[in-house]
Amino acid sequence: MRFSEAFINTVKEVPAEAEVISHQLMLRAGMIRKLAAGVYTYLPLGYRVIQKIEGIIREEMNRAGALEVHLPVLCPAELWQESGRWSLYGPELMRLQDRHSRQFCLGPTHEEVITDLVRREVRSYRQLPLNLYQIQTKFRDEIRPRFGLMRGREFIMKDAYSFDRDDAGAEISYQKMKETYERIFRRCGLICKAVEADTGAIGGSFSHEFMVLAESGEDRIASCSRCEYASNVEKATYAIADKEPVENSTSWLAMQPVSTPELSTVQEVASFLGVSPSQVVKTLLVLADEQILAVLIRGDQELNEVKLKNLTAATKISMASPQVVESITGPESVGFSGPVGLSGVRVVADYSVRDIENFVVGANRKDTHFINVNWGRDCPRPEFFDLRVVQEDDPCPRCQGPLKISRGIEVGHIFKLGTKYSKALQATYLDQNGEEKTIVMGCYGIGVGRTMAASIEQNHDRDGIIWPMPIAPYQVMVLPTDTTDKDIREAAEAIYQELLSAGLEVIIDDREERPGVKFKDSDLLGIPVRITIGSKSLKQNSVEIRIRKTGQVIQVLKDQCRQKVQQMVSEMLEASS
Ligand code: ATP
Ligand code: MG
Repeated sequence: MRFSEAFINTVKEVPAEAEVISHQLMLRAGMIRKLAAGVYTYLPLGYRVIQKIEGIIREEMNRAGALEVHLPVLCPAELWQESGRWSLYGPELMRLQDRHSRQFCLGPTHEEVITDLVRREVRSYRQLPLNLYQIQTKFRDEIRPRFGLMRGREFIMKDAYSFDRDDAGAEISYQKMKETYERIFRRCGLICKAVEADTGAIGGSFSHEFMVLAESGEDRIASCSRCEYASNVEKATYAIADKEPVENSTSWLAMQPVSTPELSTVQEVASFLGVSPSQVVKTLLVLADEQILAVLIRGDQELNEVKLKNLTAATKISMASPQVVESITGPESVGFSGPVGLSGVRVVADYSVRDIENFVVGANRKDTHFINVNWGRDCPRPEFFDLRVVQEDDPCPRCQGPLKISRGIEVGHIFKLGTKYSKALQATYLDQNGEEKTIVMGCYGIGVGRTMAASIEQNHDRDGIIWPMPIAPYQVMVLPTDTTDKDIREAAEAIYQELLSAGLEVIIDDREERPGVKFKDSDLLGIPVRITIGSKSLKQNSVEIRIRKTGQVIQVLKDQCRQKVQQMVSEMLEASS
């Protein structure tokens, strides 16, 4: 490819709309352009990366025995009503009507459509197991589309669905996909970790997310520094020690009200009373769908909404409005809720408040707290659950080693679905004995654009992108420093042709630009290997090869250039295979 014909328009300034580095660099390198919020055009350079990632995914899915299909984007509402998700999915689902007022959605994921296909096609156990996948555009009306390709409203996903005769078979399919995903991300040149995850709107019983480790990631990961345990913080737990409840103790002081005018945050109350925030019990009045709950948690801890959602089987958790709070705890009591004398609502508490004594709570009265509160004596012992967000150094639930918290970008997600969709849609088969059985399913997604963005988050420097060789838009850039110089131009052209004939993916910067401009663009674009042809080295019949990642520079004789570059490219491809 010739740069002058490649439709690459680089931009010097950092675009104001882009907060994260991958978004900035993709815009600056002329790989994507925005059409509307969360909707992007892939330009030729960007689309080459997308196709490389898709290529790796395809090879590995095919190797695992999965079969590629292409399902419609336009999905009839009836199927979604059958699974119950038409009402559950909420405003993220892009809904529309046809001219006959029939309702449809643009597929955000395809469990319904694929299960419908399989229930029509599969009759016998002989047709199972089966794994079908597609690479296709998905639509989700994200509340906050941002970070470019990372969280779009229209994006490319690889989604796969496995169908098995029984749980044991489904477990094998799941493990096979887990290994396949590990290979895919390794081959893309990414440092990625599989972590246990919540199953969210897709549902099912068990799942892993594949996280690209990067500081800018939206997800937090808890991983054990001693064993293999790793989990999304949304789901992560810790070793909870058993302890007998204390009924009464000589150390218990008498409960008393104290005036705390306008002090309603934990921090304010704790410093006013001269105690640590861990001595304060926060009372959060929460709506789990329609049900009101009082959630008690230690002042220095954070509520994990996913855990509360799972405990209550609610689809949505929100904080109760001031009106609702006052209807429960009394007039002007907002900010001063507490468990003493609380009635009419279910009270659930995090384990963090199980073993403390003489603690501080809101008094359900304006500007008042109680001090020296103790369970059983001053208010009923609540039900205790694990409801908090794990923290750095919490003991690992498997081995008690200290947990570490890091950040990651979710690029893939695999689920054991069980019979959630096959039951709802009655996808069954006849077993060896002619008995009707429900198919057991799994589903497996990879965000293709998000993988591209995550790769840049993990691989860049001040000057631009550093593509891992397997997904680079071009493997090699040939850079003649001065195209008006005949010797340089001809030497560069010869090397370019030679590399092309050797089967390498090459771009030559044939523009009549100053060398400084070309070098800057070449760093920005992040092509892994660059060959510079300039007058000085040419006089010694040599050229310069530079590795984008390490900055390492070597001089080679012009005649040996092809061989050397070919060797470098294959080494860099093999490093991640
Ligand atoms: P998130 O929690 O980030 O919203 P999700 O759990 O909703 O992701 P899945 O339903 O598991 O995502 O989708 C499978 C994969 O599709 C994700 O792992 C991610 O790589 C990708 N993906 C999901 N939503 C988006 C989006 N809005 N833009 C780009 N990629 C996405
Ligand atoms: Mg999502």
